[in-house]
Formats: sequence, C-alpha cells, structure tokens
Amino acid sequence: NSTTNTFHSLRPPIHLPPEDLPLSVAEYALSLQSKSSRPDATALINAASGQRVSYPEFLRQTKTLASYLQNVTKLSKNEVAFVLCPNSVKVPVLYFALLSLGVVVSPGNPVSTDADISHQIGLCKPAIAFATSATAHKLPRLKHKTILLDSPEFNEMTTSGGAKTELVKVEVSQSDVAAILYSSGTTGRVKGVMLTHRNLMAVVSGSYWARQGRESPTVEIFTIPFFHVYGFFYSFKAVALCESVVVMERFDVRKMLRAVDDFRVTDMAVAPPVVVAMTKIDLAEGYNLESLESVASGGAPLGKDVIAAFKAKFPRVCLWQGYGLTESSGAVSRSENPDESLRWGSVGKVTASYEAKVVDPDTGNALPPGKRGELWVRGPAIMKGYVSDPKATSATLDSNGWLRTGDLCYIDEDGFVFVVDRLKELIKYKGYQVAPAELEQLLQSHPEIADAAVIPYPDEEAGQVPMAFVVKQPQSSIREDDIINFVAKQVAPYKKVRRVSFVQSIPKSPAGKILRKDLRKMVLPGLSSR
Ligand code: AMP
Repeated sequence: NSTTNTFHSLRPPIHLPPEDLPLSVAEYALSLQSKSSRPDATALINAASGQRVSYPEFLRQTKTLASYLQNVTKLSKNEVAFVLCPNSVKVPVLYFALLSLGVVVSPGNPVSTDADISHQIGLCKPAIAFATSATAHKLPRLKHKTILLDSPEFNEMTTSGGAKTELVKVEVSQSDVAAILYSSGTTGRVKGVMLTHRNLMAVVSGSYWARQGRESPTVEIFTIPFFHVYGFFYSFKAVALCESVVVMERFDVRKMLRAVDDFRVTDMAVAPPVVVAMTKIDLAEGYNLESLESVASGGAPLGKDVIAAFKAKFPRVCLWQGYGLTESSGAVSRSENPDESLRWGSVGKVTASYEAKVVDPDTGNALPPGKRGELWVRGPAIMKGYVSDPKATSATLDSNGWLRTGDLCYIDEDGFVFVVDRLKELIKYKGYQVAPAELEQLLQSHPEIADAAVIPYPDEEAGQVPMAFVVKQPQSSIREDDIINFVAKQVAPYKKVRRVSFVQSIPKSPAGKILRKDLRKMVLPGLSSR
C-alpha cells in the first residue's frame, strides 16, 4: 500500500474459529490432525532408539496424563508449569496434556544456570515443575512437587496411572495465556513472553494452510529445542499436519544424517549452524538422503555463502528460510514454495494475516519498498505482553498493536523481506539468545573492571559470539583469559564471552547509553554506518 507504506500479507488469510469459542491450542491442533487422511500415522520417533509413538497412542498418553494431572496432582487452569527438559518424545505429550487443561507451559533451557532458572521462576511463578534426573537439581524448591519425565512415575502417569479416571472438561478461553517463553526483547534482561492460545493457533493455522495439498507424508526431523519458540510452535504445527516427528535428544550432524537415512526423513527444522555443519559433511560417508525434500532454517541469519555451499552440495533440496521472534509466537515471514526459496538472502514473504511496515528509526515514518528501517509487524500471533513488565511491554508493543522487532529490514517490490542487521542489543549464538546487559552486569561486578560493554562479533560456525570491551581499574593487571574464565564460570556455555578488547573508555551518549555502533566500528571497520 503506497499511501501508508503498510505491507499486507500476500498469502490467503488464515481461518480461525470464532474468538469466543472455548478452545485450547492443543485441542485445535488435534482437531486438525483428526481430519488427516492418515490419522493412524506415526506421531513421534526417538532418533536414538527408533521407538515409535503412533497418533492414537499419542492421544491416549496425552489424555491419560491430563487426567492424572487434573485428578491426582490437582493442577488447575491458569496455574503455571515450569518445564526444564531436554528434547524427548515425552515433551510433546506433556505440552498437549498441560495445555488441554489450560495450564500455562513455561519451558526453560536445560543448560541454563541456577541463577537463570531462579530468574525465570521468579517471573512465571510456577505451581509445579517438570524436569529430568539430569536437570532437576537446578530447580529451586517449589511450593509443589517436581515430576521427572525419565521416572517410572511419569511412565505410569502416561500409561496406566490415570486411565480409569475421566477427564473433566476444562473450558479454556482462546485469550488465556498458554505459554510463557523467555526473551530479552530489544534491551535489558530476560523477560517472560506471554503467548495466548489464540496466538499459537494463529501460527499453527498459518503453517497448516501453507502445507495443505502436499500429498506425500511428512517425516520431519527436529534438531530445534522444544523450549524455544521455533520448536514450541512446531510441536503443535506437526500434530496439526499429522507429521511424523523424529526427535533428536542431542544434536550431532552425523547422527542426524543417519536418522534421515533410517527414517526416510522428508523435512528438517534447523537453525543456521546445522546448515553450516551440513555443508562441511563428507557425503562419501554414505548416507542415503534421497528422501530429503526441504530444510527450513530459522532463528538467526543464514549467510548467502552458506546457502551457495548448501545448494552446491544438496542441489535437489529446498532450503527455506523463516524469520520470527519469540514475541511473534513463530514465523513472521518465510518462503513457502520452491520458487520463493530461490530468493537467496531473503527471509521470504510476510506470513498470512500479518501486516508489516518498515519504520525510519529517526523519524518514525513508514518507508516505501526497498528502503531500510526497523521492521514493525502486526497480526493475530503477536504476544499479549511481558509478564509483570508493563514498561517493557509498552516499549515493544505500541497502542495500535504493532510489535517493534528491533531488526533492520527492507521489503522489496515483490514483498520479499530482507533482514539486514539488528538494531536491538541481542546477540545470537547458534540461534540462542544472549542478552548483552546480563554479561555487562556480570563484568561490572568484577573488582578489577571499571566499566564494560558487550556486543556481537561475527563467527562462521555460531553466527555471532559475545565480545567484551573492558576498561580496567587503575593498576589492574587482569588479562583476557581471566575475564573469559570469570564469565564462563557463571553463565550457561552458550553465553560465554569469547573475545575481549581492552579500551580506555566505553563510548556513551550524553544520557549514559552505550554506543554499541561505535564499538562495532572499532572492531569491524568495514561495517556500513546506518
Ligand atoms: P528469538 O526470539 O530467539 O526467536 O529471536 C528473534 C530474533 O532472531 C529476531 O528478532 C532476529 O533478530 C533473529 N532472527 C530470527 N530469525 C532470523 C532470520 N531468518 N534471519 C535473520 N535474523 C533472524
């Protein structure tokens, strides 16, 4: 639209049930699954053991667990369940059971430190936690119990434990919060992102209609974590589309390719480092990858050189890109057909029922096609807000419902979105969020550090790594290694500072804001100034 410079999605609009109909995203996904021509298909496959769970079995386990949690554990609607579990075939069963009861699911990263987890638990205030024997020790003592997914007790709960008890129907409103995921947004510390059932139904619906008409069964391998928005919404879209999902508990590129061969995988959902790893693999190792039709990459940028190397190695495989945020419940834009996937460097077109505009960060005006500015998006999947943080919510969501993405983008004349750079503070290490503010606070707590700032530094394998600029205290003889080790001892491995530069002072605006652009120019002089 040239008068307002608002881009409306070119995709057919999504169809959602009437807003006032009580419905959880779990029931919604299952209702779409039941319309499939193969309702008895395999739902889940454990990549390591080959164990399969069919859709009827998935449904039975979900119902049995839900009835146990309702009748024995006495969990009720709007209570929060904190989930700290590595990927396994049990996680989707848990998500579906909790959401069908209207219990809010809040999944954390299992490699987080105790401090990260305490912060998240402080935000979501759970009534119960689900963990595994490897992660449970990280949880502070909760008001209620912790259930371990790898315990005989959990097996009992999903098989026989509550089989005789009936599930009491719970009326879940679509506007109820379904999930609290974690993101630092455009600035500061980690916040709890509230997504409603309808938000998630909207992304599921977008994916569902985009894939309708596909005849061959989809066998999809997930290397993406179920706790991140990408794996979270994919667990619902996979059920809606009656896909068979191969779950990898731990990522390993060779094991992944072996699983593609063993289970005739057709689709892959990955973050860019997996695409990089695939370009480096020696195909002479003898994998039969003929079944593989497409690889969807999202969560962080995919370099054009990586795309070229991938296409040279796997010419028949479609490489899709998707772009989205935790705050948008999933994809805001993506390529949805082979032609679109050929537009290298683009993250595809705006997804169904979304509006987008590219806003000049200085004037606030919406810009015409081809011009760069901050991408703002509006649509049915945009979060309700950040938990107990109206200030951060209003800084991110404007009063007309637009979400400021913090990404520097442009949209071309054909509606393709290009992500050029990030305006916000966020660092993405292998697709995982690292908040500079958190590392800066930690560095500043060191007695020999007078001041510090952290920015992303480009890295071929990880995409970006955190780089620290440090001002030493007078007389301090602190070295780069000391700083790297000091941080490494206190943060999850993906948040480690991996480069250090000593400086005389940290450039700041008159208001005291770190001028990150100036720091970037110091180490990356080739960067274009915006
Ligand atoms: P998260 O909330 O962890 O999904 O992080 C969202 C952020 O990741 C976005 O605002 C982007 O900065 C970045 N991102 C996600 N997908 C892409 C992509 N395909 N290309 C470039 N950046 C991306």
